[in-house]
Amino acid sequence: MGMCSSTSKSGGTYPNAHRSRSGEPNIVNGKPPPPATQIPARKQPPPASPKIVNNTILGKSFEDVKQYYTMGKELGRGQFGVTYLCTQKSTGQKYACKSISKKKLVTKSDKDDMRKEIQIMQDLSGQANIVEFKGAYEDKQSVHMVMEVCEGGELFDRIIAKGHYSERAAASICRSIVNVVHVCHFMGVMHRDLKPENFLLSDKSENALLKATDFGLSVYIQEGKSYRDVVGSAYYVAPEVLKRKYGKEIDIWSAGVILYILLSGVPPFWAETEKGIFDAVLEGYIDFESDPWPSISRSAKDLVRKMLTQDPKRRITSAQVLGHPWIREGGEASDKPIDSAVLSRMKQFRAMNKLKKLALKVIAENLSTEEIQGLKSMFKNIDTDNSGTITYEELKTGLARLGSKLTESEVKQLMEAADVDGNGSIDYIEFITATMHRHKLEREEHLYKAFQHFDTDNSGFITRDELQTAMKDYNMGDEDTIRDIIAEVDTDNDGKINYEEFSTMMRSGTQPGKLF
Ligand code: ADP
Repeated sequence: MGMCSSTSKSGGTYPNAHRSRSGEPNIVNGKPPPPATQIPARKQPPPASPKIVNNTILGKSFEDVKQYYTMGKELGRGQFGVTYLCTQKSTGQKYACKSISKKKLVTKSDKDDMRKEIQIMQDLSGQANIVEFKGAYEDKQSVHMVMEVCEGGELFDRIIAKGHYSERAAASICRSIVNVVHVCHFMGVMHRDLKPENFLLSDKSENALLKATDFGLSVYIQEGKSYRDVVGSAYYVAPEVLKRKYGKEIDIWSAGVILYILLSGVPPFWAETEKGIFDAVLEGYIDFESDPWPSISRSAKDLVRKMLTQDPKRRITSAQVLGHPWIREGGEASDKPIDSAVLSRMKQFRAMNKLKKLALKVIAENLSTEEIQGLKSMFKNIDTDNSGTITYEELKTGLARLGSKLTESEVKQLMEAADVDGNGSIDYIEFITATMHRHKLEREEHLYKAFQHFDTDNSGFITRDELQTAMKDYNMGDEDTIRDIIAEVDTDNDGKINYEEFSTMMRSGTQPGKLF
């Protein structure tokens, strides 16, 4: 019995309820907005301070996205924006560009949400099951988010087309979804809106990768905070959300609902009205008697039951789901290494010149608490003994928990790369420095502050002496290094580095280093 069947217990209304984005039982999002930041606007500031403009969303100067990308056909439409296929002019590479009209971002909270969504996507980007974020641009009318294109359509449509999945296929999809939950929670993010519509398939093949694309309702988890906003979509909402006191466990519940649908073709909690659905969720009765459940393995039902446990404290965690025998059985994911965001950024960092590493450190020291929340949570998750520094052993096990399979020597190389001061362990700032998303560099104020840090006499240039003094503090000021840096960065050959040369250096060469 498929979801489209009118004889199903969904009464035939379930798929339609899902299809209409604005009409679906989506609950209002009512979180308090984070504090606003002051935003500079110029791309090439003079030696004095850059101009400040308060009205941009992204905190950088307006840019024409069409300068870099040729826009193609429309891929889809959402509540806030239209997504187009686009081609990067310099590489011919295809991407998706989600354009949001600024007219739709009316309140301050809409704007803050937009910023937060981009920030979360940047933090999570770089993981196999999360759409890769490429860049964000803003012009007078719109904000454009360029990301990896997923040409296989929505998971939702595939479920509709298939009815329900084999256990093996369902296990593989569930693994990808819980992987997203795991990465989110590791990075201190609660997703809050897991549903099949928010997953796209990378391509049209049978073994396409599943990609989470929408973080519009996600939040950085504040320690000790109990959340109260009722958000999400009715079928997937956890009972504690309805009771207005919840934490990250709600994501596992939603993933459990998706798993039930994958296996049976119908949602576990169903009624004609939203209130009816909520009552069913709160009652928590799970039907394992109707077809096809009698023919589904005991192990699969065991996992569904554990994910749909009413008490969030007793509910299975993402790590436990990934270790559950039904998920692991015959699964191909366990032997496929996942290049996590932290790993790929550490690899990039390793390939940078020393001035750039130092400048990033200055930037890391100046980031706002809002900007480092995700990385801070990841640092705490890796620093298992809470010592404030990450040792080689902790880095190794932390990366393994994120799904990476690195050899001892590879972990050592990363360790050495991130350990800017060479004391044998990675401190908090070093970790943020090595793992922050390069799009942070788009914020002019960050770059400018870093430049000023080196330009101690405010002349508008970083001189050889200034560079030497700054680098000595970190035991890296030897003659050869300084000569190499100036030779690399000083493109007008006047023996010193101006702001333009500095920002060009910071923004260039961020492709992953060829390391392993
Ligand atoms: P929503 O308002 O639900 O968040 P989105 O604007 O994120 O919707 O997406 C709307 C539609 O645009 C999606 O259903 C999908 O068809 C298409 N889309 C969004 N992102 C991508 C992408 N990265 N690749 C391909 N298509 C996409």
